[in-house]
Amino acid sequence: MRELAGDLRWLSLNWATVRERCDLGHAIAACARHGIPAIAPWREPLQAMGIGVAARRIRDHGLAVSGLCRAGMFPAADAAGRQAAIDDTRRAIDEAAAIGARCLIVLAGGMPPDSRDLALARRQARDGIAAVLPHARAAGVPLAIEPLHPMYAADRCCINTLAQANDLCAELDPDQDGGIGVAIDVYHVFWDPELEPAIARAGAAGRILAFHVCDWLVPTRDLLLDRGMMGDGVIDLRRIRGLVEAAGYAGMIEVEIFSRDWWRRDPDEVLRTMADRYQTVM
Ligand code: ZN
Repeated sequence: MRELAGDLRWLSLNWATVRERCDLGHAIAACARHGIPAIAPWREPLQAMGIGVAARRIRDHGLAVSGLCRAGMFPAADAAGRQAAIDDTRRAIDEAAAIGARCLIVLAGGMPPDSRDLALARRQARDGIAAVLPHARAAGVPLAIEPLHPMYAADRCCINTLAQANDLCAELDPDQDGGIGVAIDVYHVFWDPELEPAIARAGAAGRILAFHVCDWLVPTRDLLLDRGMMGDGVIDLRRIRGLVEAAGYAGMIEVEIFSRDWWRRDPDEVLRTMADRYQTVM
């Protein structure tokens, strides 16, 4: 395993961690101030800043871009809705390329309104990803399929285990030509009894594109907005990082915390704390 103490070189800030107090420009400056060498923007603040301006600012501050969040959300009630998601994801690929992102985070999407057909949503997600894969390959921006915890299967993401994401990658990229892989977010996968073989399989195929960290609080008071800072919850972060790195991953460790608690705090305190926990807890 990599030694993290005294070395922030693999730490990345996902913008959502400070989203209530920082626009993208302020987040970029804060990373530079705290010696955090990478950032993962979201598309809304990126577009608000202007893609070209943001790309320059990121470059001027010497930051890497561990990923761009996010696109996908493919299932829809009609063909026009599904095509709109495909078109939007192609635009996201171009945005990711413009800022030098190492991957584009892709969420499958949930079930269309009034649908009870989860299997259909999953087929539509697969078809959407297949439709944008050639564009991702041409742009040199791999698609990072992020499985989300099953509690989001209906409304956000019908790909819910790493095994499912691995299967999809194998189906869409049978010859391992690249352009598609997985994002492993500890919050979404820590509970999975099949996590260890799934991480090994993703790594063996060279498909681990991103590693997101936070913690699972007990009790969790809100299914979306109560994620914990690393060390404050029950996830065995060192064990999962060990599995990911043993599988060959040597990329960024991206801190992504959706939390009303942390959003209220001074962004400098948030970045100081995450840099500290990265070195002492991760
Ligand atoms: Zn994530």
